[in-house]
Amino acid sequence: MTLKNQVKLMQEAHLHMPQGVAENYRYWGDEQTVFISSAKGAQLTDCDGKKYIDFRLGYGPIILGFRDDRVDQAVIRQIQEGGTLSGFSTSLDTEVAKQIKAMCPQIDKLRFANSGTEAVMGAVRTARGFTGRDRIAIVEGSFHGLVDEMMWKSDIENWNSGDLLPPKIIPFGAGIPENTRELVDFIELNNFESLEQLFMMRKDSLACVLLEPIIGNAGSIAACNCWLQRLRDLCTENGTILIIDEVKTGFRVAKGGAQSLYGIYADLTTYAKAMGNGYPVAAFGGRSEVMAVVGSHAGGVVHGGTYTANLVSLSAAYATLDILANTNALKTVDEAGLQIQALLGRVFTAAGIEHAFAGPPAMLGIHFSSEVPNNYRQWRKVNNNLYKNFAWKLIEYGVMLEPDSREPWFICEAHSQIDFAWLEDVATKAIKSVL
Ligand code: PMP
Repeated sequence: MTLKNQVKLMQEAHLHMPQGVAENYRYWGDEQTVFISSAKGAQLTDCDGKKYIDFRLGYGPIILGFRDDRVDQAVIRQIQEGGTLSGFSTSLDTEVAKQIKAMCPQIDKLRFANSGTEAVMGAVRTARGFTGRDRIAIVEGSFHGLVDEMMWKSDIENWNSGDLLPPKIIPFGAGIPENTRELVDFIELNNFESLEQLFMMRKDSLACVLLEPIIGNAGSIAACNCWLQRLRDLCTENGTILIIDEVKTGFRVAKGGAQSLYGIYADLTTYAKAMGNGYPVAAFGGRSEVMAVVGSHAGGVVHGGTYTANLVSLSAAYATLDILANTNALKTVDEAGLQIQALLGRVFTAAGIEHAFAGPPAMLGIHFSSEVPNNYRQWRKVNNNLYKNFAWKLIEYGVMLEPDSREPWFICEAHSQIDFAWLEDVATKAIKSVL
């Protein structure tokens, strides 16, 4: 039998990279790690020629489809006519800033970055610079990138919902300094008591609360409006900066992101993923008064980076944001998401499986329970093993997704052309074979 290309590529990759991958989250096991040879629209082709309809979309950035011609041509023009990077200002910086402001009314001033991690780092530092305080609070189940302080989480795997004590807080892995833990508090989504306690305890030391109101890293479980409003009010009353992390939701769930769906606005916001349709670009920004601390003036907050606002990324952002602002792309995405939700609903109902859909159609959380969990601790009670088995079956049949119900299904404009009848058929087969 000839060896699959996947096996050969993985064997070779192991010689050169830890676990044989370029970054941790791509390692799915020696035989399961996926090597992709090309991507177009909503379709991936792996190194052995197998095709997948992709609902993972590179962890969420692909909003229009892979290799979108409108974006790629803008990038090619930029490279050929203006180059990739000069380390100086260009008019494009201001043009993209204006586009973001036009779509997101809570942004007065912003700065650029290359990844969600960097945008979060910039926003948190700005909040600390503005308030003169060090502590931060985050919501259980969220993910905010790879800065040390963000690398703490609730040990939910070893916690049962009947436990008297809350889950232990543990690092995501080795190498995270213990003293960064000291600066971080955790709150539970939609738990008012947890909010009140936080502000009672940390009134004068809390620089910021950082959250994804629709948790893109916990199955799109969403904050209820009144809880988010109470958080907003407490931040205002206590001089704490509210940072909304729209790295996953921004320019995806609506033109103005999650905040426009709630009508509740942050002091600072982070964006990345969908703003560049797969090119590495990010931004953080917010109220003028807060952003005024950023700069090289005495006492200013440091922000910079060689590749910041590089022209490949900014030209991609300009083209992507232009399409999102001025076409029906997000409406198409929403409609495709609703259609997928409806067909999966039929499949689960026919199989007699309790299910609940969370989040907006562009970022669909699927939970095998009678209702959407209210927060990350409740997610623990949901039948995630069934989801995992279902997801692996779908992958086998050519539907790509993350085999973990914490990662929502991402929809892109190119999904409007997929064969929904095929998907319904495949999902029916997949669920039957794992029951
Ligand atoms: N914030 C959120 C909400 C995220 O989902 C992620 C990544 N999934 C990040 C920040 C970090 O972004 P990046 O991977 O671009 O560094």
